Amino acid sequence: MMMTAEQYEESLRKLKLVVYLFGERIENPVDHPIIRPSMKAVAKTYEMALRPGCREIMTATSHLSGKTINRFTHIHQSADDLIKKTKMGRLMGAHTGCCFQRCVGMDALNALSIVTYDIDAAHQTDYYERFLKYLAFVQENDLTCDGAMTDPKGDRSLPPHQQPDPDMYLHVVSENDDGIIVRGAKAHQTGAVNSHEVIVMPTIAMREADKDYAVAFALPSDAEGITYIMGRQSCDTRKLEADLTDTGNPVFGGHEALVVFDNVFVPWDRVFMNKEYEFAGPLVEKFASYHRQSYACKVGVGDVLIGATQTIAQYNGVEDASHIKDKIIEMNHLNETLYCGSLSCASEGSKEPSGTYCVNTLLANVSKQNVTRFPYEIARLAQDIAGGLMVTLPSFSDFKSPEIGKWMEKYYQGRKGVSTENRFRILRLIENLTLGTAAVGYLTESMHGAGSPQAQRIMISRQVNLKGKQKLAKHLCGIHDEDTDKGHP
Ligand code: SF4
Ligand code: FE
Repeated sequence: MMMTAEQYEESLRKLKLVVYLFGERIENPVDHPIIRPSMKAVAKTYEMALRPGCREIMTATSHLSGKTINRFTHIHQSADDLIKKTKMGRLMGAHTGCCFQRCVGMDALNALSIVTYDIDAAHQTDYYERFLKYLAFVQENDLTCDGAMTDPKGDRSLPPHQQPDPDMYLHVVSENDDGIIVRGAKAHQTGAVNSHEVIVMPTIAMREADKDYAVAFALPSDAEGITYIMGRQSCDTRKLEADLTDTGNPVFGGHEALVVFDNVFVPWDRVFMNKEYEFAGPLVEKFASYHRQSYACKVGVGDVLIGATQTIAQYNGVEDASHIKDKIIEMNHLNETLYCGSLSCASEGSKEPSGTYCVNTLLANVSKQNVTRFPYEIARLAQDIAGGLMVTLPSFSDFKSPEIGKWMEKYYQGRKGVSTENRFRILRLIENLTLGTAAVGYLTESMHGAGSPQAQRIMISRQVNLKGKQKLAKHLCGIHDEDTDKGHP
């Protein structure tokens, strides 16, 4: 059964999460003003799935039950499913203007649907069957899962087993008849406190010496021994103000946490990899490729920023200046190029042995590499057009002040007929997206989320057929050597 946004919110209230923010335990994260906008963004994934006009994109037919489910819990059964996933990301980004967090769980489920099957084929294990039971539970209850991959990593030059502190990568401490005990942490966990479940995966390829670190499993997010420490974001305390206008986006936001696993028990039926170290790399690669496709979310946020920029240009009376028009074209060009990348890796997706469709790895990495750059340029152009006022504007309280409000009204007016308050609001939104809480998602997350730029460059270098390209060139200009004589490429 798909949940409504209200049912989702209520379901979170039942969780007994251990959450810290500003050094204090937060008993009720759902209603905490700094955390709540991130919950609202996830809630939107529930609301949109029930909107009649969005069903085609936001829902799918479960290959397990045949029922209609939220696409965020779906295992992609075709390239068309992957294309709809891209469209869903853009749609959600456009309706929230932030990171809506639920994609990580979807990407973890899809990666596991491929790799648990492959491990079984190699080791005669029964991970895939366990996984399918877990998937049925997630789909039936319309759950949000945190896909937890990134370890703290300590000394980056050392593999997991050589770290002076053995907990720099999450690992198995012991096992018994009932399950395993794990210790470690996962960093930068988007939406972790808004999730019912946490799905843990390794963060890098591993060798035999690291086999205790090659572990994948799922747990309820409030399992005993898990602690959430919330990240800070620039301008976050604006969310504590009585009037939220200065936040720029009073309703939605993304939020990350450090998730600590202090000797946490995982029952065997929730373990999806245990010491099969040669599959840690493939699981990372599959999850990363899916999540790099997911960055279509930034196209939707880009839509909002472009809309805000065009609006401030109009409010300022400059929208007809040729350089403004050209900058808006450039912003759209960059944004749609990102969309092309996500769509192309989806439409070039192919079927894995388990039946799951996976994106084209090369194109997914090229797409994400562009995401590490273009939002910064789009943001630069937005700030260029918006003008310095987006960072020197006094507070909304000054605007409403009986004494000085008149000066705000007089000196911050734009084109005749435009409300000064509206001009204020749109500038705050641009500030939010390019410098405030949403800049976490639109900029730095674009850089480092789903892997930092160098991770994509390594994948690109592995995936391109450089020899084949050389053969083509040599063939055309008549070079005959060992390579070209082996035949036409
Ligand atoms: Fe989803 Fe984008 Fe947030 Fe990643 S950054 S969780 S893809 S919305
Ligand atoms: Fe992300």
